[in-house]
Amino acid sequence: MKEFFFYRGIKSLAKKLKGDEKICLAIRPYGFHAGNQIPLAIYPFFLCEELRKNKKEPRFIIYLVFNDWEQFKLDGPNVKEYPFNVYPKDTTLQYTQDPSNTYKNIVDYWTPIITKDVKIIEKDFPLVQVKPILYSEFKNDKRLSAVLVKTLKKPRTFFNILKKYTNKKLLPSPWKQIIAVCPKCKLTKGTTTLSRSNKLKHFCINCSNTYQGRLLDFDYWLYHTQLALPRYQILDIDLCITGADKIDESDYTVREKLAEAYGINLKMPDVLYTPLIVDKKGDRMGKSRGNHKYVKANVLRKLILIDKNRQFICID
Ligand SMILES: [Zn+2]
Repeated sequence: MKEFFFYRGIKSLAKKLKGDEKICLAIRPYGFHAGNQIPLAIYPFFLCEELRKNKKEPRFIIYLVFNDWEQFKLDGPNVKEYPFNVYPKDTTLQYTQDPSNTYKNIVDYWTPIITKDVKIIEKDFPLVQVKPILYSEFKNDKRLSAVLVKTLKKPRTFFNILKKYTNKKLLPSPWKQIIAVCPKCKLTKGTTTLSRSNKLKHFCINCSNTYQGRLLDFDYWLYHTQLALPRYQILDIDLCITGADKIDESDYTVREKLAEAYGINLKMPDVLYTPLIVDKKGDRMGKSRGNHKYVKANVLRKLILIDKNRQFICID
């Protein structure tokens, strides 16, 4: 694994890559704004452009992974201050209705909108293929099951890695990482455990009931670090393009160390970090912060090119 930063990272990668690599772009499918457009649509375009300048025609396979096993909203003692002591407020995106359209699931609503925008790259680079995929489609893959089992059986492994490799504050509890979706009320509120004989037990606080079954009888919420490992393995990813906020959490060191601790034989992909969009007050653009907006691709490209290697780009 190697880390590449901003536009200078694109330059280095364009020299290193052959053009036929598999790229992973991952997103929670519940909105689309300039903060997501940069890693998903703008930076892949710049990378392809730079590759051509190096006389290589891009033939990348771009996997656009919709993380529907992640939460719609996070909860915890203080999500900002303790970013690892978190859990879903209600449930995963897989079981969330779109607020603007009560008859449609939020994932069904957003995936075609985001896919359409990311696929624009295929017009300028016709050999590039964008392949959308839902995380829940990995459910029956044994590489995902292996991570689920390790996460359930060794709950402190991840805690100890974070303690060693991140500077963020960490509380001993609440400590979640994985929660089953209640088969009855579809919420992720409760406690999930796996017995020695691999029987899954989920106590739902909302239903005041315990549900039992096999591992794959349930859907799950999974913390994003654990979620990433099977994604890399199953899709055999060479490069991830992601926002610079991940640098702060030492995300890639943590992922590498967790894969080691779980005994997963994983080729860690290279990472290209992209600049973050902030508003006038300096707050990062985000759906949860309510300051998000969609910006036309040509406007965003120009904004980046004003000062190619800066980490923050301000949009009013
Ligand atoms: Zn329930």
